[in-house]
Amino acid sequence: AGGMERHAYDVVVVGAGGAGLRAAIAAHDAGARVAVVCKSLLGKAHTVMAEGGIAAAMGNRWPEDNWEVHFRDTMRGGKMLNHWRMAQLHAQQAPERVMELEDWGALFDRTDDGLISQRDFGGHRYARLAHVGDRTGLEMIRTLQQRTVQLGIDVFMELTVTDLFQDDGRISGAFGYWRETGRFVLFEAPAVILATGGIGKSFKVTSNSWEYTGDGHALALRAGASLINMEFVQFHPTGMVWPPSVKGLLVTESVRGDGGVLKNSEGTRFMFDYIPDFFRAETADTEEEADRWYDDKKNNRRPPELLPRDEVARAINSEIKAGRGTPHGGIYLDIASRRTPEFIRKRLPSMYHQFKELADVDITAEPMEIGPTCHYVMGGVEVDPDTQESAVTGLYAVGECSGGMHGSNRLGGNSLGDLLVFGKLAGEAATAYATGLGRARPAVAEDDLRAASHSAVAPFEVEGGDNPYAIQSDLQQSMNDLVGIIRTAGELERSLVEIEALKERARSMAVEGHRQYNPGWHLALDLRNMLLVSESIARAALAREESRGGHTRDDFPQTDHEVWGRKNLVVSLDAAGTGVELSERPLPEMPDELKKYFDEPRKES
Ligand code: FAD
Repeated sequence: AGGMERHAYDVVVVGAGGAGLRAAIAAHDAGARVAVVCKSLLGKAHTVMAEGGIAAAMGNRWPEDNWEVHFRDTMRGGKMLNHWRMAQLHAQQAPERVMELEDWGALFDRTDDGLISQRDFGGHRYARLAHVGDRTGLEMIRTLQQRTVQLGIDVFMELTVTDLFQDDGRISGAFGYWRETGRFVLFEAPAVILATGGIGKSFKVTSNSWEYTGDGHALALRAGASLINMEFVQFHPTGMVWPPSVKGLLVTESVRGDGGVLKNSEGTRFMFDYIPDFFRAETADTEEEADRWYDDKKNNRRPPELLPRDEVARAINSEIKAGRGTPHGGIYLDIASRRTPEFIRKRLPSMYHQFKELADVDITAEPMEIGPTCHYVMGGVEVDPDTQESAVTGLYAVGECSGGMHGSNRLGGNSLGDLLVFGKLAGEAATAYATGLGRARPAVAEDDLRAASHSAVAPFEVEGGDNPYAIQSDLQQSMNDLVGIIRTAGELERSLVEIEALKERARSMAVEGHRQYNPGWHLALDLRNMLLVSESIARAALAREESRGGHTRDDFPQTDHEVWGRKNLVVSLDAAGTGVELSERPLPEMPDELKKYFDEPRKES
């Protein structure tokens, strides 16, 4: 370990998506020596794939919009399991964060008056998503990246973090390897901000990329922090279903926001049959009213295609199950018959090219075939809402790998806002903590460093064991089949048995070759995280005996406000350190001045 590459910082940010970059910029601005570490190239983070936009109550299209309406929409979208304080901070601060991006050079689409344009998305009462065509994430990451580089922040690309170190319960550093050389690196730092994104690669059909293996979730668990709301996984209603090579790839919600409708194989616009009571008062119940809404939102209610994602995904699932699906096992998403080719190409350029190139479908002339795809995890590291610090001193989490903000279901556009708002808060809080320590910094023990190196090379020392690709593929199939969009106790119990067996196989998995660029080895290390996170999801899903948001139990179809509406499930590492256990946490008490938004009968509509 003596010759190992070492660096010392005040704050190390793991992840270079929107959350990580915004946190690093904030830490730098607050005076920290900060590094950003990411396991792929800078700019490749998941954030770049975000299409629809950033939800922020700027009121550019609807002056009636304000943070209170956004807060209410977010809480209702999350079926009231959100941490109210996070939803409040997010709604209050998102507009400033968007304006700041603009100051830093982001070029948003405009209204006729020259203001930042805002588009409609499911669950948002007003058109609220600041956007750049359907490539908002690209513009956001470009802007943040440029600023990161301008400020001279150190970036370590293609470096994967596999361990965190502690000294007397406080974070002392992080450990990782260079993807190319396989050589190890130690970061000594009293504050680590996890910004590693989601967990989608544990499922077979997903909109997520290879990077989404739940590393931050697992690192936090192993360090002694807890995860909250892990049973809530968002299945986006519209992923491509054909050809098989792109199954799961996202079809942005903007297609529906801009006028696209869902139809079954009989040509029926079926979403009108799936309007839940909870949203009845604000949803159109005739096609005429729904169609008028696009031009006159004051006097009409929104189309049911724009209900929150969980509702739409379940409806699509039911139609397919009832035998009214398309030839490739999806449902039709039709914008061709509703908007002009010019409009479609201007508003949805990426979608147009995506279908043309990948499926040979011209979306200006024919409907798309789509179906649900694993998209986002609401669950994540449990953090303090104002500082994003976890239960472990010096360990912070932001973005998709943190939990609480979105409750049981995230509204579209609320992730990009989340990254910016909480990224900034985390960067500031981590800096205040780290720089306040003076010289009394936690230290990395050489024994811990040796243990981390040993554990990283362990898969090379096994002979004849299982191959990590086979284990990963079995895990993905199992999660898709047993912990997917509709769940039952029997299937969840079976999934836990299967995960145990996969863990057993993973204990003796073997990788070939050496440490220079070796994807099999990288996967072996990722798999430990995927298994721990998958177990967290399955255990929490089995415990929550109700249906709510991203969690649907066939055997408990009702939402149980009395019992399950009052608590969150929390996951922590078990005593043996090889699995997870559950506990319950009462919901934080919302102050009266916020409660009023939910008690009063609706004044609007
Ligand atoms: P990411 O952007 O994924 O960044 C994760 C970073 O962590 C990467 O740099 C990765 O390399 C790094 N990393 C991971 N593990 C390690 C490790 N062990 N060591 C080192 N580095 C590591 N949300 C919206 O609000 N609006 C939208 O329109 C929208 N559209 C979307 C479209 C698609 C196709 C997808 C998949 C998601 C979309 N979302 C959208 C969701 C949103 O994009 C993501 O939730 C968000 O970008 C996550 O950002 P992040 O910063 O938390 O993580």
